[in-house]
Amino acid sequence: MVGRILEAASNATIPPKIMGAQMAARNSLSPLPYSSSPALALVLMGRIRILSDQVANQIAAGEVVDRPASVVKELLENSLDAGAKRVRVEVEAGGRRLIRITDDGHGMNRDDALLAFERHATSKLRTADDLLSISTLGFRGEALPSIASVARVTLETATGEDPAGTRIEIAGGKILHVDDAALSRGTTVAVADLFFNTPARRKFLRAESTELAHVTALVTHYALVHPEMHFELLSATHTIVSAPPVARTAERIYQIFGKDTLAQLLPVAAETPLAHAGLPAPPPWKVDPDEPVRDPGTLRLSGFYSKPELQKLNRNSIYIFVNKRLIRDRLLLHAITEAYRNVIPPTSFPVVLLFLEMPPEEVDVNVHPAKTEVRFRQQSLIHDFVRDSLRTALVRARPAAAFLAALDASPAASPSLMPPAMSPLPGSPDSEPLLEPDSDPAEFAAARANAAPFQLTPRLPSPVPGKLPFTAQSLNPGSWGDPKAWGEAAAALFQPLSLPPAGDCSPQPGDLAGLNPAAETAQVEAEQAAANLNHLGSLRPLGQLRESFILATGDDGLWIIDQHVAHERVLFEKILRDRQVEKVQRQRLLMPMLVELKPWQMIVFAHIAEELDLNGFEVEPFGPQTLAVKSAPVGLEGAALERVLAEVIEQSSSDSDKTKQNEELAVLRTRIAASIACHSAIKINTPLDPVRMEWLLLELAKTSHPTSCPHGRPIALLYSWKEIQRAFHRI
Ligand code: ADP
Ligand code: MG
Repeated sequence: MVGRILEAASNATIPPKIMGAQMAARNSLSPLPYSSSPALALVLMGRIRILSDQVANQIAAGEVVDRPASVVKELLENSLDAGAKRVRVEVEAGGRRLIRITDDGHGMNRDDALLAFERHATSKLRTADDLLSISTLGFRGEALPSIASVARVTLETATGEDPAGTRIEIAGGKILHVDDAALSRGTTVAVADLFFNTPARRKFLRAESTELAHVTALVTHYALVHPEMHFELLSATHTIVSAPPVARTAERIYQIFGKDTLAQLLPVAAETPLAHAGLPAPPPWKVDPDEPVRDPGTLRLSGFYSKPELQKLNRNSIYIFVNKRLIRDRLLLHAITEAYRNVIPPTSFPVVLLFLEMPPEEVDVNVHPAKTEVRFRQQSLIHDFVRDSLRTALVRARPAAAFLAALDASPAASPSLMPPAMSPLPGSPDSEPLLEPDSDPAEFAAARANAAPFQLTPRLPSPVPGKLPFTAQSLNPGSWGDPKAWGEAAAALFQPLSLPPAGDCSPQPGDLAGLNPAAETAQVEAEQAAANLNHLGSLRPLGQLRESFILATGDDGLWIIDQHVAHERVLFEKILRDRQVEKVQRQRLLMPMLVELKPWQMIVFAHIAEELDLNGFEVEPFGPQTLAVKSAPVGLEGAALERVLAEVIEQSSSDSDKTKQNEELAVLRTRIAASIACHSAIKINTPLDPVRMEWLLLELAKTSHPTSCPHGRPIALLYSWKEIQRAFHRI
């Protein structure tokens, strides 16, 4: 059989190396012929030497292999590239003593197995042009020689077609043995004593448990992106991951993270043709009429995102895959943070599993030796698409916080592969959709007074949106533990055929036109997978709890609404809207209010004065350290007014005035809006009459994010009818 692997460098400039069986005779890995020739060395006599392959490999290892998890990453990627369906990872002592990866992929014949340890030897790339459209995870031909230069490696591999398999032992880059071995198809690579010959590197390894956590995170990530494969991770003492093949990502999430996490996630899917990508068309004289027009392809997004109540302390629970490659990317992290802006607190992070698919030409993966970073050809298109798809999904789904889940809503840490040391990214212009204009509580009350009086008689129930079997089954206490029941429930949830016809769904703001079937499916799933806040406007307020929380009933159960944060959300969105169309209402103060500032505060004030003015604050300097406030936004008075000014100035003090002017302006606007909203919203411990309560619920229903206040606190909790029935042992 002809081997797959070619040496990328074996072209005219470097003499081809001895191939095949002869190679086994060499016990050291291919020193370049002229660097070891004494005659040449004499001629060359200068200072510069070509490094031996062993040294070059160790240098490459510095970039590619820095801890057990990176060895696992490279070997796992090789197994995936080899078309494996089943991969087993075994580690001892956090991977320091042993990492063994066994796959059932296509394996290698003896020549290839030897060549695989040569630098720049790869079967995945032939010409430089191939670099432009890489569809495999590996392509640099560096991993195996790098790993073999810093550890003791045993490779066992068989193609299933050759009479015998091959077993190769290498330590510190030196081939020790090459033997035939009776093996079934597939490859096992065992890496023992990592960094045994580079003590400096070994010192950087962390505690066994830390290294194991990194390995676990890595295997988890790849298991998530390949639900159709069988993954196992075993330590010397126990099984850490065991994930047999399943049909869908949701089932894999269930296998790995359990039902609680899955219950807090919602599916998202969207796509956009890359044709409108805004790349300049080539000039007509450069267009070859004979060349077929290339379809620019499609950008697809799918995955899962967390409800606002699930919050994490760091970004470690954001998993990003581009063309099934796990990556780290500031641009996409930023897009995700943007989507959640003013939905969760700025210091918290969501859980997001994002799978992006795009034509390989759209993304350069050859940016970083460890291949964890990529460069997109159309950065801002991808950024905005991710931000907008997630935000639209959040706005549409309006997930309600379940009563009990909200108790655990404080941010929690979780281990992951992603290095936590990434500085927070700045915000960027907000894209709050404009909704219908809202009303004034007084007007509303007047209108109500003319209409039927408020009463507590039950109304006719509004139609209940179609429920999927999943909902019913998931609420059955015993069913979660039963994988078969789960399988069926999950299949029902993610089976487009079982969806009710569109007409049965509750009306949504906007329509689904222009979305592809997958996106549509995900939208409907998102809307139905969880109780949502779309019916807020039809809730019946019963009264208040301690004059602070509104109790209301709906078809889905009992709702508890925090009156302060609900009003805060309503005002926040109204202020932003009014500001956008420059229709902020201001009121003149009877007497100008004098505010004393410190010198640094005066500097910050000067920087933001114009935006404050556009938000209704008419403020003039009154002496070197004093401001006179003459007008203020309607609804903001006295101490609250002073507090808003102090707060906004304080929060704006760390802004730099150099870059990202637009982003900062948007952040400043939301900051001002959030502060005004907070200080002029109805307080807790305030009695509300039924009309006001009803007004508040209606206005809240109109907001784009009725789920959480601008600071990320939940607004409404649902004690669902099912939960109530279950609590009373009626089901
Ligand atoms: P790259 O993956 O960048 O090509 P590597 O050094 O990781 O470079 O691997 C070199 C070559 O060895 C690969 O191109 C592939 O042909 C072969 N190889 C490595 N691991 C496996 C495996 N598990 N199964 C089959 N072939 C493999
Ligand atoms: Mg590789």
